[in-house]
Amino acid sequence: MKQIEVDVLIVGGGVAGLWCLNRLVQEGYNAILFEKRALGGAQTCLSQGIIHGGAKYTLNGMLSGAASAIGDMPSRWRNCLQGTGDIDLRDTRLLSDAHYLWSNGSLSQRMTGFFASKAMRSRTQKVSADERPAIFRAPGFRGQVYRLDELVLDTPSLVRNLSAPHQDRIFQIDAADDTTFHPETATAPARLELNRQGVTLMPKQVLLTAGEGYADLAKTFGLQEPEMQLRPLHMALVSHQDGFDLFAHCIGASAKPLLTVTTHRAASGRHVWYLGGELAESGVDMTSEEVIERGQSTLRQLLPWITLKSPQWRTVRVNRAEPKQSGGVRPDTAFVERRGPILVTWPTKLALSPNLADRVLEQLDPPSGTHSDLSALQASQPVPLTATAWEDM
Ligand SMILES: Cc1cc2nc3c(=O)[nH]c(=O)nc-3n(C[C@H](O)[C@H](O)[C@H](O)COP(=O)(O)OP(=O)(O)OC[C@H]3O[C@@H](n4cnc5c(N)ncnc54)[C@H](O)[C@@H]3O)c2cc1C
Repeated sequence: MKQIEVDVLIVGGGVAGLWCLNRLVQEGYNAILFEKRALGGAQTCLSQGIIHGGAKYTLNGMLSGAASAIGDMPSRWRNCLQGTGDIDLRDTRLLSDAHYLWSNGSLSQRMTGFFASKAMRSRTQKVSADERPAIFRAPGFRGQVYRLDELVLDTPSLVRNLSAPHQDRIFQIDAADDTTFHPETATAPARLELNRQGVTLMPKQVLLTAGEGYADLAKTFGLQEPEMQLRPLHMALVSHQDGFDLFAHCIGASAKPLLTVTTHRAASGRHVWYLGGELAESGVDMTSEEVIERGQSTLRQLLPWITLKSPQWRTVRVNRAEPKQSGGVRPDTAFVERRGPILVTWPTKLALSPNLADRVLEQLDPPSGTHSDLSALQASQPVPLTATAWEDM
């Protein structure tokens, strides 16, 4: 078997793995990344791409742990998009420079007090009628609109931007299939035998950024802990013609948005509204037809002044993969836990990727300054990009 030594093997080519690959290479690490299927992963290219600044997590009127951890993410991403941040993201497409909060007429009174609360004042800005996005200037809208300092990104272009400079370090290999891991002993370093490639990889450290794929990798690498939790969503999509762009949360009486909408473009040019929030959480036990029916009635109720032209609906199921929490609630921050040479990570939010990489770099041993001949791993084709749920609508 051919032997290859590297400083860090990253397993998983979603936003977490790709972001870390960029940061590690910048810091002088001899790092490579394995992706078993397609870059953009299970969650990344199905996410709504919102770079949260925490407003969503203050909806109970209090500054939660999540809200303070995520507070400086929009400005870090903004710097990256301008080419002056941790990573040069000038080739990533911005879908919207802001995300909005709206309430329909009946909830306006409660909203006024809520937006005046200390937790919300620094994060939101009331928008006057003539500055609102077009959909909220249309006749028939009654309610309030607030602007959040949160970006919305086109995730496929983000994945392309993160992977393009490092194609020579990214390989289509399943680290849990036909592989054998041998932990470090007194006489030999840790090694991962890649039986299919006929290669023994000797990574000084391994970074698991595999989302839901951690379940199989924990077996490969002999890890009992940390444990993972999956929180499923059943998202709805509706494509339509000549429609409005909408990037907003609709706020009701609970601590979670009733509906979170982002707008994407299908290859046909049709607008696609991607619908998350309470609709997607409560839809987990429903069939696709039931979620579509619920989506249609939700839009009638929350956007009664809008009629979509030739709407076409579909749904998609996807799990959020995270470290296990008591009560199965959402974790507050990016997660990194070191077990010997293995770092187990979940960003828990795409927006927290910069925070995840900071924490990984704090825990890694320094780079060795060596280079490796990677030709035994080299594939003739670049690893493909995951398809989005909306491109063929
Ligand atoms: C519907 C939805 C909407 C969301 N919206 C937002 C949002 O608007 N804003 C936000 O900040 N966050 C959002 N999130 C959360 C965000 O998408 C995730 O936190 C983030 O994308 C996780 O990235 P990841 O790289 O850890 O995982 P993934 O994107 O799931 O990538 C993991 C990768 O690892 C690969 N892999 C798995 N096993 C192996 C193996 N054995 N060998 C090699 N490769 C392997 C997989 O193929 C996959 O490509 C959303 C999540 C969902 C589900």
